[in-house]
Amino acid sequence: APSYIRSIMPYQPGKPISELAREMGMPEASIVKLASNENPLGMSAAAREAAGRALAEGARYPDGSAFAFKAALCRKFGVRQEQLVVGNGSNDVLEIAAQAFLAPGLSAVYAQHAFAVYPLATNARGARGIEVPAKNFGHDLDAMAAAIAADTRIVFIANPNNPTGTFVPGTQLEAFLQKVPRDVLVVLDEAYTEYLAEDQRYDAIAWLDRFPNLLVSRTLSKAYGLAGLRVGYAIAHPDVADLMNRVRQPFNVSNIALAAAEAALADDEYLARSADINRRGMAQVTAAFAAMGLEWIPSAGNFVTVKVGDAAAVNQALLRQGVIVRPIGGYGMPHWLRVSIGLPEENARFIEALQQALA
Ligand code: PMP
Repeated sequence: APSYIRSIMPYQPGKPISELAREMGMPEASIVKLASNENPLGMSAAAREAAGRALAEGARYPDGSAFAFKAALCRKFGVRQEQLVVGNGSNDVLEIAAQAFLAPGLSAVYAQHAFAVYPLATNARGARGIEVPAKNFGHDLDAMAAAIAADTRIVFIANPNNPTGTFVPGTQLEAFLQKVPRDVLVVLDEAYTEYLAEDQRYDAIAWLDRFPNLLVSRTLSKAYGLAGLRVGYAIAHPDVADLMNRVRQPFNVSNIALAAAEAALADDEYLARSADINRRGMAQVTAAFAAMGLEWIPSAGNFVTVKVGDAAAVNQALLRQGVIVRPIGGYGMPHWLRVSIGLPEENARFIEALQQALA
């Protein structure tokens, strides 16, 4: 393998529930997993029914153009089919962007403590990653604009960011886009955008008319509750979408996933419930941090990152109590743990376990 492949740091997924249950000799039902920013409500009933109906068509290939799902996106966002790329999760969208726009001799800009897939996708193409130091754990957009080099072809921005939960206001993003050369694609990763508070909301899709080098990436994995089915999408200029659709796998999303995604997209009631549960859970968890005298990073997502000292040791103590969270030493934050917001009783189990672990 080329040296740029050998130098890639492997992505560290959360421990599976079954594996921890086996290791700890606990029943699976007693394990609380708050490690992967999943939706604690599970799949919406509408999505589950649609997936079940699609299963009957399983012997046929899925629609490689994702026509029906794209039509639903067009109705929802007032965009055209030619502006869309559908991915096997938004990770796939990010990778397809890297495949289409990066190569050895080119570079991508991303922030310190930003989502791990940006360096992964960049390195896998043999391109150079330019990591820009974070400001208050978030994106320093001025420094990122200044870091763009002659060979830069992509800037990755996660808003909100994972794992830090930091958020950049829309006005600052717009000002950033004004400064970026038109031959640099700005990949705006909005995986958690549905969790934004009313006063944080902005409409990046409306900016596409003015910025043909903008790509808005979204997912059905978080607020829409379909992490296991793998559906994400990009909205961009038709020329950008066209190049990406040339390199993606022709049947990259299954018929079951597409059917569920179309149904999920229409289920506004489920989306509102997800955001509401998250808002309350965030208040519950951060109130406990405050009571324990712990520092945390205010988060706009469905997870929050808290400073616990020796995070590897605290993580082990949580695992022994059947609670799975995410240590983020790999993100250069060895003293912090990221915890996803769960149902009220799951949050309570986590809080109790953390109190034990730190006692
Ligand atoms: N972007 C960000 C910022 C994320 O945190 C995640 C999920 N960890 C993704 C993209 C990818 O999620 P998915 O592939 O499930 O859409």
